[in-house]
Amino acid sequence: MGKLAIATATATATASMEKQVIKLGCRVLLFPYPYVGHTTPMFNLGNALYSKGFSITVIQTRLNSSDQTTFPNFTFHYIEEALWSQEALASVPDPWEAVTLLNKSFPLPFRDSLSQILEDASKDIEPVACLISDPLWDFAGTIADELNLPRLALRTGGLLAFVLYDSVPLLRQKGYYPIQESEQEEAVSEIPPLKVKDLPPEAIHDTLAVVVKEAKTYRLGYICNTFKELEGSFLDLFGRSLPGTPIFPIGPLHKYPSTYMGEKLDEEHSSITWLNTQAPNSVLYVSFGTIAAISKEQFLEVAWGLAKSQQPFLWVVRPKMINGLVKDDNDIFPNGFLETVSGRGYTVTWAPQLEVLAHPSVGGFWTHCGWNSTIESICQGVPMICLPFFGDQKMNARHVSDILRIGLHLEKGIERQNIERAIRRLMLGKEGEEMRERVAALKEEAQSCLMEGGSSFKALDQLTNHILSFCSAEIPKKHRR
Ligand code: UDP
Repeated sequence: MGKLAIATATATATASMEKQVIKLGCRVLLFPYPYVGHTTPMFNLGNALYSKGFSITVIQTRLNSSDQTTFPNFTFHYIEEALWSQEALASVPDPWEAVTLLNKSFPLPFRDSLSQILEDASKDIEPVACLISDPLWDFAGTIADELNLPRLALRTGGLLAFVLYDSVPLLRQKGYYPIQESEQEEAVSEIPPLKVKDLPPEAIHDTLAVVVKEAKTYRLGYICNTFKELEGSFLDLFGRSLPGTPIFPIGPLHKYPSTYMGEKLDEEHSSITWLNTQAPNSVLYVSFGTIAAISKEQFLEVAWGLAKSQQPFLWVVRPKMINGLVKDDNDIFPNGFLETVSGRGYTVTWAPQLEVLAHPSVGGFWTHCGWNSTIESICQGVPMICLPFFGDQKMNARHVSDILRIGLHLEKGIERQNIERAIRRLMLGKEGEEMRERVAALKEEAQSCLMEGGSSFKALDQLTNHILSFCSAEIPKKHRR
């Protein structure tokens, strides 16, 4: 089973939410894409809709799936495909290649499952309002259409990336491709603040074209894990890419009350116990998410950069994050490293990221700029060092460093001296202090957008009414706004 980074809620919190929820008698189906960075926001969306009174059914592959007992308020349908296991998924090194392969494998099991759910629902008093799918599934929309089921999409990534992907044909026309080495640092004037080096490689243009085309078929609505104050200008551009499609920026999704009831691992406790021993704002939290991998050489640079910085750090080292590693996990670190950083550095294979970022000892986050990590850092007011790898990470990093100015972009390579310098600038310098102030202001915006009258609060109300309009059940009048 994969782990889900759902905000941990206590039984008490869930029970109190249960009390407030007035059931609408209307069911929503969720179909997450099987990577943690996609599954987590889909579950968080489930939490948001559950809090509004919808019943939630999750259709999941067994890959990175959640244990249904940890979400007692949701109903689960698992779809299987003989060819796929967690190991098989992990062995596809390129996530874009995985998109193509997964899309070939799951249409039939999905169709069977969806037909079954709809047939069962037809005997039930609770109608199914719609499907909310991750648009990376390129078959889900067509199958929902065939079964006359309204469907919406959840975008789990940053919006600037979508704007860029949609502009690739234009950028090709304008002569940005093939990308010249000498032009890497030049600005992409059509989409500021992107640089040529941020543009997606030609090898994935065909996949991107499919992804964008599919995304544009979700005309009934697009839900985004963002908030107006964070991505306002990109929301406008995103809207222009999807003319006529209602857009619901209801994020940050991880801030909705969770219905998760899972236990925490010992290792998760140990991160917090260690952070408790550190001074306020002193620790750099280091994590490159759940997929990104680096070479052994880069790993050494990261390790010695952290050591040379002399700053306390909590580092998530996933066993699979080093390409081609064959050694035992205990031997991952270079000789002398653990002794050098003893007392000042702490390494784990998984951290409870939301709690870590909320911890008063954490003063910076060296991140790969996955969208979840980015928005989680912003919501806790933690400035970043950005080291993007692929997909939307490069665009998110540009947004964080060049527009929001709440992070340092590690774009001059990851030699240990560069790393050491960046860490010291962020954790000790005036620049880092200014970033901390700016991100603190954004943290406040992230809080107020969810409060009554806030932008995401209103967008969630609009989404609720939108979904209710698909539901043929008799909805009590008081729930119609
Ligand atoms: N995460 C976590 N602990 C870890 C590593 C990651 O809780 O040790 C969570 C993190 O909070 C985030 C998700 O995993 O919600 C990673 O998603 P993101 O979009 O940042 O990156 P991806 O893994 O998709 O590249």
